[in-house]
Amino acid sequence: MHYFRQDIDAYLFQVAIKYGATAKNGVLIEDVEFCDDLMRLRAADGSTFLARYVVDAGGRNALIPEKLRLRDTEPRFQTKTRTIFAHMLGVLPWDELGPRKEEHEMPSPFSQGTLHHFFRGGWIWVIPFNNHPQSVNPLCSVGINLDINLYPIRPGISAEHEFWEIIESYPSIAAHLRRARAIRPFVSTGRTQFSNKQIVGTRFCLLPHAAEFVDPLYSTGMAITVNCINTLACRLIEAAHSGDYDTERFRYIEEWTKKSFDVADDVIWCTYESFSDFRLFNAAFRMYIIQSFYSTVSPAETWARYLHTGSKEVFLRMEEHPRRGTQCADFPEIREMVTNIAKELSSYKSGDQDCMNATNAIYRHIAAHSDLFPPFWKMLDPDSRIPMGRLTFPQFFRILIWFNFQAQRHVRKQHLTMQIVPLIIKEAGQSWGRQVQQASNAIWPHLRDYVATWNRDWKRSM
Ligand SMILES: Cc1cc2nc3c(=O)[nH]c(=O)nc-3n(C[C@H](O)[C@H](O)[C@H](O)COP(=O)(O)OP(=O)(O)OC[C@H]3O[C@@H](n4cnc5c(N)ncnc54)[C@H](O)[C@@H]3O)c2cc1C
Repeated sequence: MHYFRQDIDAYLFQVAIKYGATAKNGVLIEDVEFCDDLMRLRAADGSTFLARYVVDAGGRNALIPEKLRLRDTEPRFQTKTRTIFAHMLGVLPWDELGPRKEEHEMPSPFSQGTLHHFFRGGWIWVIPFNNHPQSVNPLCSVGINLDINLYPIRPGISAEHEFWEIIESYPSIAAHLRRARAIRPFVSTGRTQFSNKQIVGTRFCLLPHAAEFVDPLYSTGMAITVNCINTLACRLIEAAHSGDYDTERFRYIEEWTKKSFDVADDVIWCTYESFSDFRLFNAAFRMYIIQSFYSTVSPAETWARYLHTGSKEVFLRMEEHPRRGTQCADFPEIREMVTNIAKELSSYKSGDQDCMNATNAIYRHIAAHSDLFPPFWKMLDPDSRIPMGRLTFPQFFRILIWFNFQAQRHVRKQHLTMQIVPLIIKEAGQSWGRQVQQASNAIWPHLRDYVATWNRDWKRSM
């Protein structure tokens, strides 16, 4: 699933209006003033807005952090990276030119997912928007992410020049992009990370991307944002009803947003440090598999329960241990594993241990938590390229059975329960039904219009 920014923004904009938002398109807020019990926002066109509470969703250049000087001068994250990116046409499908399936043994085509090229000191994302047969978007997002310690910012060098210089230094990646051309100017960022002293305060809350960011690696941005909205919305509705916008009501959001970014930072930093040697990366990546699995299953099950019951109450379970925050911020065993692995990589970086020792130590830390994953996941076998196995329905049910009946007590029935089974079957059935319906909706009017001029299609939109 690859979200094309412009389309998704337009969609969400319409959704907000549908639910009653008063939308002011293209209004730039230039100043915010804190009055006694109101906030006064002044727009570039001179208009003003009064608000009882402001949610600043302004992203990296948000107004409130700047106005209140909330940004940390030195971001608290250990990851130190920067990005150069563009949208391109003509990026070849990697499956056409990379190793054959028999050689790489991956479960699905590379050109259907987000492809990552890794190298010492960085990685490249290749995100095709034309990755499925129904796509009408020929573009591909390509971005290079660089460890600033190894690739310091180069003033005076254009983003485009630096982009192609790096691409050309890796022949297989150069082959991948040999017919590609950018259709928008290249963007080169300064340090990607930023962090804030505060996320909530008197009559305001910053959405995560207005407050903090680590790195595009592992795509944590939207997950943290959606989780924050889940915890913010219910508090805001209560506050509006009671008229009490006390900051304490919103404190939870700050705590768990920050904790989520902190785990993301550790996992991302470990991965960058492991890029220098495939053996290290192969080991460290397994930590990410476990962490991302646990980060995903609770929200997925909650969503499935909501579809089933239609009750918004189910979202409240996301505020109970061990589901608080995202990225396993509320999961001490995984936090401990990540912290220990980060220590091993630190001592590898400082030269206190060599690559082989660090790699073995990482596997030992994963083995120490082998109660967290089924024995048929080949987490401790460096030769296994798909440690979780192929995520087909039968494999998923095998995992489900382990989590419900075979796992140790502290994991069993905690994160993934049998309750999800009817929900998945129902959802799969409905999805299949929708596909059949869509196909018939597409074929039938087409045939009919050859022989008839009148129809009653308007009835569908009633
Ligand atoms: C290079 C890069 C790659 C990323 N890749 C991923 C990924 O793969 N997956 C993922 O989940 N996340 C990713 N992220 C993070 C993701 O982009 C953010 O989590 C997401 O955009 C947050 O959405 P948002 O609407 O809160 O903020 P933004 O997307 O930053 O939007 C802020 C909006 O506010 C507007 N605005 C700002 N100031 C004002 C003002 N004063 N008045 C009016 N409007 C204003 C801006 O114009 C902008 O439209 C990536 C981030 C970066 C930088």
